[in-house]
Amino acid sequence: MAKGKGINFLEIEAKWQKQWETDKVYNFDSKRDGSIYSIDTPPPTVSGKMHLGHAFSYTQADFIARFKRMRAFNVFYPFGFDDNGLATERLVEKSKKIRAKDFTRDEFIKICLEETKKFEKTMLSDFEQLGLSVDWNLLYRTIDELARKTSQKSFIEIYKKERAYRKEAPSMWCPKCETAIAQAELEDVELDSVFNDIVFKIDGKDVIISTTRPELLSSCVAVFIHPTDKRKKELLGKKAIVPLFGFEVTVLEDERVDPEKGTGVVMCCTFGDQTDMEWYFAHNLPLKMSFTRDGRMTELAGKYSGMKIKAARKEIIQDLKDAGLLLEQKPIKHAVKVHERCKTEMEIMNTKQWFIKYLDLKEEFLKKGNELNWYPKHMKVRYDNWIKGLQWDWCISRQRFFGIPFPIWYCKECGETILASEEQLPIDPIEKKPLIEKCPKCGCKEFIPEKDVLDTWATSSLTPQINSKWAQDPEFHKKLYPMSLRPQAHDIITLWAFNTIVKGYFHSNALPWKDIMVSGHALDTKGRKMSKSLGNAIDPIEMIQKYSADMLRYWAAAGSLGEDLPFQEKEFISGKKFLTKLANATKFVTMQTKGVKLSEFNENDLREIDKWILSRFSKVKKEATNSLEKYEFSKALGSIRNFFWLEFADFYIEEVKHRTYAEDETKETKAAKIVLIKIFSELIKLLAPFVPHITEEIFQENFKDQLTTKSVHLEKWPEIEENLINEEAEKLGEITKKIISAIRKYKSENALSMNAELEKVKILLPETIEFEKIEADIKQTMKIKEIEFEKTNETEIKIQIE
Ligand SMILES: [Zn+2]
Ligand SMILES: [Zn+2]
Repeated sequence: MAKGKGINFLEIEAKWQKQWETDKVYNFDSKRDGSIYSIDTPPPTVSGKMHLGHAFSYTQADFIARFKRMRAFNVFYPFGFDDNGLATERLVEKSKKIRAKDFTRDEFIKICLEETKKFEKTMLSDFEQLGLSVDWNLLYRTIDELARKTSQKSFIEIYKKERAYRKEAPSMWCPKCETAIAQAELEDVELDSVFNDIVFKIDGKDVIISTTRPELLSSCVAVFIHPTDKRKKELLGKKAIVPLFGFEVTVLEDERVDPEKGTGVVMCCTFGDQTDMEWYFAHNLPLKMSFTRDGRMTELAGKYSGMKIKAARKEIIQDLKDAGLLLEQKPIKHAVKVHERCKTEMEIMNTKQWFIKYLDLKEEFLKKGNELNWYPKHMKVRYDNWIKGLQWDWCISRQRFFGIPFPIWYCKECGETILASEEQLPIDPIEKKPLIEKCPKCGCKEFIPEKDVLDTWATSSLTPQINSKWAQDPEFHKKLYPMSLRPQAHDIITLWAFNTIVKGYFHSNALPWKDIMVSGHALDTKGRKMSKSLGNAIDPIEMIQKYSADMLRYWAAAGSLGEDLPFQEKEFISGKKFLTKLANATKFVTMQTKGVKLSEFNENDLREIDKWILSRFSKVKKEATNSLEKYEFSKALGSIRNFFWLEFADFYIEEVKHRTYAEDETKETKAAKIVLIKIFSELIKLLAPFVPHITEEIFQENFKDQLTTKSVHLEKWPEIEENLINEEAEKLGEITKKIISAIRKYKSENALSMNAELEKVKILLPETIEFEKIEADIKQTMKIKEIEFEKTNETEIKIQIE
């Protein structure tokens, strides 16, 4: 293991990663008996590189996978890529410097499939370097055949349950991506804007309306006032003349007008925002669309038609000014909703889309959320709040190319929806025809394929069904569903966790998993989000090459579950110190314990300090096990690390040296050696989930005789030995620790070496103890000829040296 002075961690890691692969250490065996522990791994969006946030959260899930494997579960730990939909299209457009628009659907899909494979290869090798205990044979892509089949089957089932409907309705729209989007894909941002006081004429008088969006004047359909407005008598029911455009709209009243905002008189355009849409329905207003799908002004806008929205706004403001119809401009900050992928402001467009009807099921979804085990618990609030705030049915159709097609056609004559049959899945309706020959409703023989694709979240919300082969292998599905764990980050509780629960509800009326483990984000050193624009992103592969994967994992374990963790290079450095200390302790333990057999362990031969360390260790095992059962990995690692460093290495090893160095083999010297090897080899096992490479190396090199399998990662998790818990011994052990610390302090303050002999030490104790049980060890450890114990009225242990 040692090479020159230091340890070559990178070499060790590469070696074991290869060996694990060869030995199929992490392969899932569906035929094996025993309980299955299955993990619904998040498929990262294909982006070309693993970022630090990935490294952080995937490692945390891996701690659990490894722990459960050692707890004798048959662990199902797959990996996948989310490689369909808008994000992938954008990536391919950027990397190939092309535009999807310029290709046929078929051509563009081919390019995407080829391109994403390249990106996935790089990402895969990045993820492998973390030392994840994933079964790489279970790799899936959300665009592969099984995923397509699963997603289409899901749509058909939901349609048959009368939960999917197609409707021409106002829906949220991204003018940049030119597609409908869902509420969950929106992000709130605060933007600078301007309130423009614009003059409308009513009965020849000026009425001021404040608006941030004067470019919508051409789609103004009404003017609203609040029912309690003092001007009500004067204005209600009158005609208002829209400036610049000259047409008339009626003044109406509605509770939703905020009398405090602007002048209390507002215009309603179809559509400027969600309230406009509500008014449109509530007051049965006409529909006037001012802009096109790609965010340009329509014919309605007259001389402004063809302009982009923002350019038209500028122009209209200028024209209003010139006409004396713009009285004042006030800068404001206001919250707008943008598309999370491209940060473009969301618009509302009247288009024909497919929706999943679920607003009536809010109570059911809240109930499902209560049945799920949330780790950490407080994350459930985000789920609950999201459901309570839901206002739109789930829009699942996208006007894009690279996605999973809807498995449907429409009758050319009567518009009837014709579903593909299950044996046809996966299917592209553009290429194939339905199995039936004529429309069951009107007998027409011509069908028009649906050209829209399913939103990527409509598929990624089916990862438990994809992993459990729901659309392919019912037996396997039964075995694996619901899955044990969904690990994911907190920012996609609304998008991913919620949608997956929705799909689980529709398809099996059951939760998709038993537990959800929500991780935080990796932040930069100042606690900010890492982003390209800030230039503060840290490359995890660089960190692995500079330190090692085990040290990166050590850093990832420092974050409490659910909490964001700033990047701290000093954590990598302390990881290095820790691992080096571990390697040094290995050398000592193996040298001192040659020829010792664990099976010769005999409780009757133990000294008090042996009993102390064994008792402490039993408690540490219990704490670590209980913490990991609750997904509190940082707490688990914390107690193992503190025990190793502060009790085992700093005290126990020092306290037994005189016995292990002794030449004569007595029962007591042997007992010390057995305790050393027992605790140390179990410690390595406890650390194995966190730092899998170095622990494998240590175990294989030094404790091979203890291995019952090919890898330490397949060995049993150390048992908690309640019978070794001994409060009396712990009390004496603690006192011994304190006495030794005091003597060490004395020696170092007096410039004495730790081995320097002392003639006589008097120890003043606040209580009566059975000091004869620890006397010999203190004497031998600290090289003291004579010790005198005395009970005093002091509150603390004191020493007097003569
Ligand atoms: Zn967009
Ligand atoms: Zn028909």
